[in-house]
Amino acid sequence: MMDLFTTDRHEQLIKIPWNDTRVQTYSQYIIDQTISHYSTDKYWPAHTLDSEEIPTSGFIDFYYGAGGIYWFLDKFNNLHDFNTKKEFLTSLSSIKFDKENNISFFFDHIAFLLFRERIDPAQDNRDLLFKLLEECNPNDKNEILYGTPSTLLVAYNAFKITGEDRFQKCCQIFIKKIFDEWIYDSILDCYLWTQHFSSSYKYVGAAHGTIGNLHVLYTVKELLNKNELKTLDERATAIFERLASESNDYANWPVFADSSNKFLLHWCHGAPGVICALADHLPSGQTIDKLFIKAAELIWEAGPLKKGTSICHGTSGNAIAFLKIYKRTKDEKWFLRAKAFAMHCLEQCTELEKKYGHLRFSLWTGDLGLVWLNEQIKNNTADLPMLDNY
Ligand SMILES: [Zn+2]
Repeated sequence: MMDLFTTDRHEQLIKIPWNDTRVQTYSQYIIDQTISHYSTDKYWPAHTLDSEEIPTSGFIDFYYGAGGIYWFLDKFNNLHDFNTKKEFLTSLSSIKFDKENNISFFFDHIAFLLFRERIDPAQDNRDLLFKLLEECNPNDKNEILYGTPSTLLVAYNAFKITGEDRFQKCCQIFIKKIFDEWIYDSILDCYLWTQHFSSSYKYVGAAHGTIGNLHVLYTVKELLNKNELKTLDERATAIFERLASESNDYANWPVFADSSNKFLLHWCHGAPGVICALADHLPSGQTIDKLFIKAAELIWEAGPLKKGTSICHGTSGNAIAFLKIYKRTKDEKWFLRAKAFAMHCLEQCTELEKKYGHLRFSLWTGDLGLVWLNEQIKNNTADLPMLDNY
């Protein structure tokens, strides 16, 4: 088989029968541990696997840090019990707004204003949120974590929460910019975005690349006109088919569109992210359906990820890809495989907690991903946090 994944990033599946009580008890354990590890001045302890330089006061953002954890606790109705809502809103006002970085759904001040609007709506907060969106000039990083697609997610969720037209108008500006920067690549014969950091890259994956931007455009599809929708479907199908690398019964998508010698198998890079972005949206068709199955078979064949139980680059995220395939195909095999990965995560989480002395408190890179996965299994849903279910 062509190297569609890196063997030493994966581990053997620990086969344990599904046990509903054990799963629910363990989810509650993670929530309880999360609540008990909070401290007013330091938020949550950062994990050594998340940063070489551990910040002394813990991460604050929605990807690694406190923002995502608050969001998660609020979703699980624990924020009220936790009695941090007031504390959180107080700490919010002390976060310094950096104009250069006002554009991320995951990493910036504006994401806190959006979240605040959900948990404690207020006119002054809405007005500030709108002002920042109106004044911002999204950079050309062109991905879901930073740049216009990320800004569009803020504006769209503000529109959904408030119902105010002014946020919808912001969305239209960002949508136009995203379409304007979607450029035809004559070698790859499909339309791609380029991410401009200190160098420029053509990332494929869900966190940094073209696939993530497709996820955003499908999220806001109610705001797209007929032509934009048609264009989105045609271009997404072309990207899905033309960038896929296949080998026998398996398929994956490379990290970079213009070089197919590096493959990963996480939500952030590779097949799990492609499935999570597109399985709900691409039409049925022999080539498309086959490719989805080949990609999901590769995730199963490769086994759980050694990196942990996270959604972004861990076993829970890969299990959510199985749930998306189950939702698309109704083949129960994929539901059972998601449950098998969830049971593996329980063991994995316990082992990693022993090794590092505490759980990994993060929505996207930590063990809260396992609670999220268990909840999807329990409710027969297949959502990613924040992106599919703000
Ligand atoms: Zn990742």
